[in-house]
Amino acid sequence: MELESKLSEVGMNLRSSLIRELLKYASVPGSISFGGGVPDPNTFPRHELAEIAKEVIENEYAYTLQYNTTEGDDELAKQMIKLLERIYGITGLDRPNLLFTTGSQQALDLLARVLLDRDSICFVEFPVYLGAASAFRMTFTKFETVPLLDDGMDVDYLEKKLKELDLAGKIRHVKFIYTVPNFHNPAGVTMSLEKRKRLIEIAERYGIPILEDDPYGLLRFEGEHLPSLYKLAGPDRVILLNTFSKILTPGLRIGVIIGRADIVRKATLAKQAADLCSPSLNQRIAARFLERYDLLEYLKLGIELYKKKKDTMIKALEENFSDIKGAKWVNPQGGLFVWFTLPEGYDTMEMFEIAKEKKIYYIPGEAFTIDDSKSSSMRLSFCLPPEEKIIEGVKRLKEVVVEYGKKKGLM
Ligand SMILES: *Cc1c(COP(=O)(O)O)cnc(C)c1O
Repeated sequence: MELESKLSEVGMNLRSSLIRELLKYASVPGSISFGGGVPDPNTFPRHELAEIAKEVIENEYAYTLQYNTTEGDDELAKQMIKLLERIYGITGLDRPNLLFTTGSQQALDLLARVLLDRDSICFVEFPVYLGAASAFRMTFTKFETVPLLDDGMDVDYLEKKLKELDLAGKIRHVKFIYTVPNFHNPAGVTMSLEKRKRLIEIAERYGIPILEDDPYGLLRFEGEHLPSLYKLAGPDRVILLNTFSKILTPGLRIGVIIGRADIVRKATLAKQAADLCSPSLNQRIAARFLERYDLLEYLKLGIELYKKKKDTMIKALEENFSDIKGAKWVNPQGGLFVWFTLPEGYDTMEMFEIAKEKKIYYIPGEAFTIDDSKSSSMRLSFCLPPEEKIIEGVKRLKEVVVEYGKKKGLM
């Protein structure tokens, strides 16, 4: 059978992500990887979760081993509403404002399905979180990209673009503005309070929803907590996505959509078609964990660990790259990523060939563009390697940059 002729348009367009392809190399012995953006397994509360898992399977089996409602576990909803009030000061939430999803990734997929069409326009940041771009792309939507600056998206650019679309009579095609305001993946930057307010004001003027994706908000190592867009503007303007992946464990696959009941309801109907419900067992484990332990207390250890690793990486970058004019890096206040930009002329995708030889891995910036355009940036994740490997890895990276730079006549 010839597959091509049987594939849907979506099927035809699917291709393997660059990140997955590149990370295949990272398992070569002796390699150091700044590639994978996954939490350090040492931060998972495995003993606590194991104990709770045994308990809820034995004592609550009629719930945990059964089908669940599409909306998800009411016990988890109770805990989540409490947590959101405590950490973000978000009040007034009720059960119909929450839908539990299979990770935030499913939330992105479901919202794309209920909001986007082929002639839609969605605004994303540049560089963009790859998972969101892939989910949105399934609908054949058009993208507009807004550059990220050191204090979050370039809101002047956003305003200009929206004005242009409005004048061209196309503003009704704009379905949402997607943003990762805290410790952006991959860019590491955080949106300032002034920008949050400006963004809301602009979105309100043009009547456009904001999709706020906040997996890292609780992983702040320094600086002051900033109010979420949802807290500032409320459910009429903002849909908030949260997940346990970076603050508890990604293996449970629990994300949550927080928003206006009618939007959440639509997403719930889409989820019904996608997978009926998320695993009851995982949700109940998370609910009992939150009931029994103080998530914020428990997170302190992880935050301390990540901060140390981040400081080590920034120091290593300073030591190795200060002599390369035009090289710059974002020093993140939280999260898992450092965004590292080389001077013009460096193509981090092409340079990856040399990196492979020296067994040091990163994600080329090209992976975070909508149109696979060339990039002189790369994403460096400090969460997995131990500190001595971070130091060694940055040294290797310097060798890679020097070798590439000489070969290309850039230095
Ligand atoms: C990791 C991450 C997610 C979370 O994905 P899950 O499906 O919840 O594991 C969502 N958005 C961003 C920006 C991320 O970095």
